[in-house]
Amino acid sequence: MKTLNHKFVDKIPEEIEEGILYVSIPYETAIHKCCCGCGSEVVTPISPTDWIITFDGESVTLDPSIGSWSLECRSHYFIRKNKVVWSSSYSQEEIKRVRKRDTEDKQDYFKDRQEVEEQPLIVNTEKTTEPIKRETGFLAWVKNLFNK
Ligand SMILES: [Zn+2]
Repeated sequence: MKTLNHKFVDKIPEEIEEGILYVSIPYETAIHKCCCGCGSEVVTPISPTDWIITFDGESVTLDPSIGSWSLECRSHYFIRKNKVVWSSSYSQEEIKRVRKRDTEDKQDYFKDRQEVEEQPLIVNTEKTTEPIKRETGFLAWVKNLFNK
């Protein structure tokens, strides 16, 4: 088991030191060097559909696990309270399944967002069409009155 030190930064530094988990709140991103020592930089965007970071005042936890599928080393580990907890490597089949689930999660998330954004539009059209209808009704009534 290995331990990481977290470091809150405004900007992601040019030089990423091994053993440090850099967390940038303004950029909503965390970055660290792969814990296997291969030297690859692992970028984990922080968002409801990417990684969620928990800071308890002393240490940080990243959710879900870090699976560096795009890296040669295929490392897979959890960062729990600054501790690196190794997990067995994903098989190719598992990677595909997790990636698929990931995409579906994102689609659901954006679908939900769209639905929320579309709702006020529907309300607006109802509000604008209603007075027009009344006006034409009134105009028709006035016209009808003068036509008599
Ligand atoms: Zn690695």
